[in-house]
Amino acid sequence: MILHIDMDAFYASIEQRDHPELKGQPVVVGGSKTGRGVVAAASYEARQYGIHSAMPGRRAAQLCPHAVFVRGRLDHYADVGRQVREIFGRFTPIIQPLSLDEAFLDVAGTERLHGDAETIGRSIKDAIETELHLTASVGIAPRKFVAKIASDLDKPNGFVVVKESELTSFLDPLPVEKLWGVGSVALRRLHRLGLKTIRDVRHYDRELLVSKLGDWGHHLWKLANGIDSRGVVPDRSAKQISHERTFSDDQSDAELLHGVVCFLCEQTAMRLRRSQRMTSTITLKYRREDFKTFTKSRTLPAPTDQTGKVIQVAVELLEEMRRNEPRAVRLLGVSLGSLVGSDRPVQLSLFDDPQQQQAERKVDQVVDQLSQKLGAKTVYRAASHRWRHRQ
Ligand SMILES: [Mg+2]
Repeated sequence: MILHIDMDAFYASIEQRDHPELKGQPVVVGGSKTGRGVVAAASYEARQYGIHSAMPGRRAAQLCPHAVFVRGRLDHYADVGRQVREIFGRFTPIIQPLSLDEAFLDVAGTERLHGDAETIGRSIKDAIETELHLTASVGIAPRKFVAKIASDLDKPNGFVVVKESELTSFLDPLPVEKLWGVGSVALRRLHRLGLKTIRDVRHYDRELLVSKLGDWGHHLWKLANGIDSRGVVPDRSAKQISHERTFSDDQSDAELLHGVVCFLCEQTAMRLRRSQRMTSTITLKYRREDFKTFTKSRTLPAPTDQTGKVIQVAVELLEEMRRNEPRAVRLLGVSLGSLVGSDRPVQLSLFDDPQQQQAERKVDQVVDQLSQKLGAKTVYRAASHRWRHRQ
């Protein structure tokens, strides 16, 4: 099953979240009432007046004179987009982002770890809501293009699952423009052939469609028949793998903080191995009770994908941080950067004992396999037990 997750009115929702007085208001991001510039995003309240993105600001103001115009903060939206992607990354390494706020996820092989596709979709939606105070719409289907249609069908805050056996009955009644790549020109050509719904295309003679529309006609006919072999192409260019935890109350218990860091290292290192990469820069993020945030990084002499190595470095960083900043902690994060493919020849460090290395690798393999089989909460290091137990 493939998931398509799309944030609801992303920019406008972030503004409404950050400025509660904008909740329930028609909010327009970008453009201005009088000047030039176009609308970058509109809240659902603004959309009810017919306002949509790429519309001149002046036109939007005519449609809804009491709309609140907000200046866009692209860097901020990109930051939130990274937080969303971090949540996706907890569930699968196979993520294909389409933009800042939407992505395809392939969750094959992670069922044992996180449950079936539907459970994962719910978990992601919940995490986005409770951690980021935003909503997303989720589409789940055995075909990529169907997942995309599904996520859009019940927006905002939608959750639509299409099973293999329901593909035809789901697609048939939809208008042809729901098919990926059917723009206004294409739509006119299809309408001229009398093709209004996906069912019309499915029933149309394939050869005839190809003779009228060429290869594109063949492609369209296949989609209408639920045939789509395109898979989720993961974005390997992701610069880092990170995981973080915010505490509901400030923490200063050294043993507990140590446990949290071990937990974060276990999560990130496992994802690192699953994406077949190695890291050579480990960063600890640390937010104090007064919300001041610090990061501390260390670069390793050779890249690694071993949990033990990541823990060792991250715990050292934590101890240094605690010595300098002994105040209570609000958030801890671990991120692994300077990623390289693990298919690259491994350069053994002169200082590492090869037998110890072998043993560590074996432990990681066993933990990965057992987690796949039995679930993430079954096997983990003793050091992270207290934190996990508390959750
Ligand atoms: Mg969106």
